[in-house]
Parts: sequence; structure tokens; C-alpha cells
Amino acid sequence: MPSLLSKSFLFLPKTPLPSVANFSSRSRMSTVTASPKARLRGVVFDMDGTLTVPVIDFAAMYKSVLGEEEYTRVKAESPTGIDILHHIEKWSPDKQRQAYQIVADFERQGLDRLQIMPGAAQLCGFLDSKKIRRGLITRNFKEAVDIFHQQFGVSFFSKLVTGIFVMINLLNYLSLLQVTFSPALSREFRPYKPDPAPLLHICSTWGVQPNEVMMVGDSLKDDIVCGKRAGAFTCLLDESGRYSITDFAKLDAQPDFKVSSLTEVYSLLEANFDLTP
Ligand SMILES: [Mg+2]
Repeated sequence: MPSLLSKSFLFLPKTPLPSVANFSSRSRMSTVTASPKARLRGVVFDMDGTLTVPVIDFAAMYKSVLGEEEYTRVKAESPTGIDILHHIEKWSPDKQRQAYQIVADFERQGLDRLQIMPGAAQLCGFLDSKKIRRGLITRNFKEAVDIFHQQFGVSFFSKLVTGIFVMINLLNYLSLLQVTFSPALSREFRPYKPDPAPLLHICSTWGVQPNEVMMVGDSLKDDIVCGKRAGAFTCLLDESGRYSITDFAKLDAQPDFKVSSLTEVYSLLEANFDLTP
């Protein structure tokens, strides 16, 4: 579980929330002055590596699409990571078709091994109990989202029966019957992440402001950049500690929060946001 001062929190400047240093002092001062917390009305998740356990070998995918030599060249020119879809878009239609086929093959192989991320179902149950909307944005294709939704529903209800959700009242239980993320935008929605368009589209659909929404994802260059460009709060899921402050600086994209597992997100939300339904 994260604590306010643990390394799982990287609390960065974003009005009305304070910076790391200020946050520490305000935390200590909180018994004296009660500052209003920001209202949170929706959470938008990335899918691969965030709501699902990462299984796609992206390096192998990029090598297959680009070829070994081109992969090495592009990788050297892309210190923040390769944006394969962006590369493909510049190619001739024939070459694009072949490339998308390779990408789709890798994604389909990933679907065969799809697993829901530990803590995802519980976190979403928590959000539902607070009537906080759940959306999804992925650069994967729609079929993958459909399969994810099927598996997520199974995971969700198994947790409902065996876990903490026996405490949820009847009204909330009824709302849980709708376990899909909505809207759920796949790469058929253009432009895709890191463009803020999909996130802004979701905010508009919900009728909420971007600064009432949090984007949660495991990709700094796609999820966090998308969230920041849209003006939303951002939470980076960094299970292995692969990102550093240097990476944030390279992209000028410091997440507001950083967690190493989805199970840390509950306390993060409760500590920092007004979650009043
Ligand atoms: Mg991801």
C-alpha cells in the first residue's frame, strides 16, 4: 500500500494539487487546514499492460515490422520508445497492409494469453461504488477490446462473489452488471494516443471537464502524454520501476502520480480526491 511520502507517490505540480515538497508539508498541515480536494468524476485506463498483464513482445513486433536493421536505426533515434503505428502511417498502402498484418498477428497471439491485471477488477468495483465513470483507450484493435471485456466480466464477477464486494449494497450490485468500460476507444478511433483527442472525446461524452478525470496507464509516451495534453490528472503504472525522472524530463511529461500496482490506486484516490458520488 502506498503512503503519502513513499516512493510510489510522485506528486507533481498541478493546480490545485501541490508539488512533492509542498505535498509533504501540506500533509503534515492537514490537521490544521483542510484544503478542498479536486473532484474526480472519471478514470480512463489504458488496456495492455495496465488492465491486462503485459504479454506482447513489442521489441519482437517492431523488429518484424521494421526489419532488424531499420529497427536498430529507429530505436537509436527514438530514446523515448518507438511509435510503430506512427511509422506505419507514412508507408505505401501495400507496405502498410503487410505491417498492420504483422502487428495484428502479435496482438492476436497476445489475446490467447490475455490475463486481467491483479487488482483491476477490485479497483473498478471501488470506482463503481463511488459512481466514478470508467473509460478505456487503447492502441490495440477493437477485437482485442471485445475479448478483454469478456474476460474482465468473468474476473469482475468472480471477485464479486469471493472477495470484498459482498459488502456492496444492492444498488451498487445492480450497477455492476454493466462491467464494460465506456467509452472504450481502440485504434480505429483516430487520432490515437498520445494525441489527446480520444481522452477529450471521452470527457465530452461523459459531460465532464478533463481536470475531473484521471488517465491511468503504463506508457509514459502514450498514456501520460495523452493525459497531460488533455489536461487530465495522470497516473503512471510502473510495475518494474523502469521509468526515472530523466525519462519524464525527456518527454516533458511528469505524471502526477506513480504506482507500482493497481492496488495502490485506491488509497491514492481516497487521499487526494473528492470521491463523493
Ligand atoms: Mg499499455
